[in-house]
Amino acid sequence: MINTLYDALMAPHAGSQRDFLILPDGTRHSYDQIHRLSGRLANLLVAQGVTPGDRVAAQVEKSPQALALYLATVRAGAVFLPLNTAYTPAEIAYFVGDAEPALVVCDPAREGLRDDFMAPDAALLTLAADGSGSLMAEAIRHPETHSPTPREGSALAAILYTSGTTGRSKGAMLSHDNLLSNARTLADAWRFGADDVLLHALPIFHTHGLFVASNVMMLTGGAMIWLARFDADAIIRLIPQATSLMGVPTFYTRLLDRPEFNRDLTQKMRLFTSGSAPLLAETHRAFEQRTGHRILERYGMTETNMNTSNPYDGERRAGTVGFPLPGVELKITDDDGADLPQGQIGMIEVRGDNVFQGYWRMPEKTAEELAGDGWFKTGDLGLIDEDGYVVIVGRGKDMIISGGFNIYPKEVELLIDELPGVLESAVIGVPHPDLGEGVVAVVARDKGQDPDPQAIIDALADRLARFKQPRKVIVVDELPRNTMGKVQKAALRSEHAALFRG
Ligand code: ATP
Ligand code: MG
Repeated sequence: MINTLYDALMAPHAGSQRDFLILPDGTRHSYDQIHRLSGRLANLLVAQGVTPGDRVAAQVEKSPQALALYLATVRAGAVFLPLNTAYTPAEIAYFVGDAEPALVVCDPAREGLRDDFMAPDAALLTLAADGSGSLMAEAIRHPETHSPTPREGSALAAILYTSGTTGRSKGAMLSHDNLLSNARTLADAWRFGADDVLLHALPIFHTHGLFVASNVMMLTGGAMIWLARFDADAIIRLIPQATSLMGVPTFYTRLLDRPEFNRDLTQKMRLFTSGSAPLLAETHRAFEQRTGHRILERYGMTETNMNTSNPYDGERRAGTVGFPLPGVELKITDDDGADLPQGQIGMIEVRGDNVFQGYWRMPEKTAEELAGDGWFKTGDLGLIDEDGYVVIVGRGKDMIISGGFNIYPKEVELLIDELPGVLESAVIGVPHPDLGEGVVAVVARDKGQDPDPQAIIDALADRLARFKQPRKVIVVDELPRNTMGKVQKAALRSEHAALFRG
């Protein structure tokens, strides 16, 4: 028996002086340095009483030490549980109560509030963005050598809470095999190698930054330029040294806002990927015009890592998320779970080694969404186009039922987004006395423009069936988004819940 994840990702790099993490100020950490640091940290975890299967929760800023803590946790046979740095102590209290970690690591600034989020006798260490805090102070007292604790491939390596876009966050249980199979598939599909330098500007409390980006790089031995957060200035300065960038749509729109971001800067780049939220066709087009690169859009989620990807070679089709990755099966089903033919909209279901082990302490929810035969109901609606590309139409929970008719917001949004003065839109259903739900379009204006709500309603009149037409258009400066760039439709629905009342 081996420790699947650590043995595959980091153990082979022991002694390697190659760059692993490059900080914006030029500081470099070799693979060997992080390997040795993770050994100290793994020994510390064991000394703290962390045993195989225990959870180690971390609400910490992104730093080389934070990544080493993830590796140390897996190496010690424990389960890593990263938490969004934006969560308040009250929110942390929920996750800590739910997951009952053996150890919590938080920012020193949070230590004084510990009674607000954890039991007084539970273990807590601190880690600041610059690496200071009790975690590193203690780690230094432990030796660098640590043999990975043997774990089965089916053992848990991480519990990652979902983003909470559609309701309360759920803890997705991910095994060593889940994470490794996906890293292998992606490394291959996206042609990663030891010469790659990835611009890493994603948070590491989310599947995209922690697993998709970091695991793939460790597996293939490339380097990562380790940015604490997305910063257009830093990207523009550092991108000439990089070969690849994994991003969310807002990265690309923000880079396009900068006239100096151009073809010359991106000559060495071989790959730009986008995911976590839909990439507008307009962004796709503008990016290609500006840089000559076509962004590769893909589709993943906390529960399954990566499901589909546009091809590395071959047509990257805007508005689609490409094809199921090798080892991932994907089907579209109706409300009764029956397969739907190509072109029809239904629930996206996936099956494969990437699919998680279930939701932590939610057996009913797990049974509902993850059938015994391995098919997982993603909650996303989509279709397969005539060439086999998967198109995401939206989330099941965002579908609007108005006067008994189903409305897919994306169909309406795509038309609105083409209208003059409109940057983007979110179409939602809000309670309506006659219709059940009434269609409302929240429209973000293009900079300096002032689109007229009535003109938008008029423009749609002969392009959409009556029941799909928005009854109200609300113009705003920007749509509410979370850190991963996802539009917060639930927040919009509650904000406008009373629109048709009274
Ligand atoms: P919750 O499950 O708690 O409601 P969430 O689904 O937003 O939150 P994540 O697992 O972070 O949590 O996000 C996965 C979701 O992101 C997918 O189910 C899908 O709806 C969306 N998504 C990911 N990639 C894309 C993409 N390329 N295009 C459109 N949507 C995407
Ligand atoms: Mg989800």
